[in-house]
Amino acid sequence: MRNHMANEEQAEDTPEVLPAKGKDPWAHRSDGMKCGTCMFAVPKSGSINVGRCRRHAPTMNGYPVIFITDWCGDHKLDETKI
Ligand code: SF4
Repeated sequence: MRNHMANEEQAEDTPEVLPAKGKDPWAHRSDGMKCGTCMFAVPKSGSINVGRCRRHAPTMNGYPVIFITDWCGDHKLDETKI
């Protein structure tokens, strides 16, 4: 009985970690990984929304074109762009 009481108390103290039903748990997960704050992004001269990603070597088409609102898993934060 005592263990049962302890488990109930612990369950009440445990913060809610699961998303509410119907909510997307992955929503806004990429907010901190945008190209606009990445050290590999080089803005196109004269533009504030478009640039090139220099994460990898260029292909025959050059470096990939990016928008500052794009993101990818290779994002590396550039603290000077925050
Ligand atoms: S595509 Fe990825 S690596 Fe390239 S600038 Fe954007 S976040 Fe950075």
